[in-house]
Amino acid sequence: MARSAVFTGSGHPLALTSFEPPVPLGNEILVRITYCTLCRSDLHTYSGRRIEPMPTVLGHEILGRIAAFGPEASHTDFQGMGAIVGSRITWAVTAGCGECFFCRDDLPQKCEKPYKYGHVRVPLDLPLGGGLSEYILLKPGTFWFVLPDSIPDRIASPANCATATVAAILRYAGSTKNKNVLILGAGVLGVTACAMARSGEAKSVVAVDPSDSNRERALTFGATHVLAPDYERLVSQVTALTENRGADIVLELAGSAASAQASLSLARMGGVIIFAGTVSPTPPLSLDAEMVVRRMLNIRGVHNYHGIDLQNAIAFLAGPGQSYPFDSLIHSELPLERVEEAFAEAAAHPGMRVAVIP
Ligand SMILES: [Zn+2]
Ligand SMILES: [Zn+2]
Repeated sequence: MARSAVFTGSGHPLALTSFEPPVPLGNEILVRITYCTLCRSDLHTYSGRRIEPMPTVLGHEILGRIAAFGPEASHTDFQGMGAIVGSRITWAVTAGCGECFFCRDDLPQKCEKPYKYGHVRVPLDLPLGGGLSEYILLKPGTFWFVLPDSIPDRIASPANCATATVAAILRYAGSTKNKNVLILGAGVLGVTACAMARSGEAKSVVAVDPSDSNRERALTFGATHVLAPDYERLVSQVTALTENRGADIVLELAGSAASAQASLSLARMGGVIIFAGTVSPTPPLSLDAEMVVRRMLNIRGVHNYHGIDLQNAIAFLAGPGQSYPFDSLIHSELPLERVEEAFAEAAAHPGMRVAVIP
């Protein structure tokens, strides 16, 4: 028998439920989960700030080993690497149908009928679908990857959430080589962006965050300068650090309306602004169209990612990412039976990850 921690609503303790792991059918792959980190969205659901279909098994930053292939499942990963029973893998949080307009238009993360691990309603007699479980069943259309041994679980776990999202953000932002990159928000996404931009040979990486400890940490992840978000002074501070032009690339990862508003004034003429931090309702911004026209701004939103971004994220963690202390983002590791404690610890340590080891 196997166990899952089933979530039935905020305020109800997670129920450890036993079930018989299923035999995978068709293209499905059964995975024995070895590691799952709690993400901010899991905390929001747990605390009731975000509503998901219930009952559900939370957790989408997941790693595991293949336990069984369905009879028609591919034995090669997204990049064509062979896998066997026992191979350690990670996979994209969203599985697309492969057939709808958005899947065919290369936006599988915006599939009309997506399957989102850690965000789906599960039957109580077979609670499979999230990371807070001993097993999970991968659906057809899931981009999955064999993980290189050089990336330990602690570092690989956020690959399919924070790291892949930042890889997508930077793919849309364009090359950071010799660019002045400004990063608003230095949480897990922000420090990952610092490290990736610096590895991409950015000229400067300026991280902005209200927390002293986040700013200090950003310096260890490749930020060349750190600033507190004093929005009155930020434009002049950034201008001074960017040859009086403003940033070539501005990444808004803080998700506050004030930060998003400020980003519009911090990019240089012809600069790129990516909005990726705002994933819950915030007051609207005031946007001066003439300013956008005359300053030739490129403004783009990025949400979730494509398989190619997860591939780039894994390559980064296995390569240049090794120079940065990604290990330090894990605050603690707890077994599945202490999952309640894991949520409490994660809530008490924002900007860090707490892991559950089923
Ligand atoms: Zn996540
Ligand atoms: Zn689709």
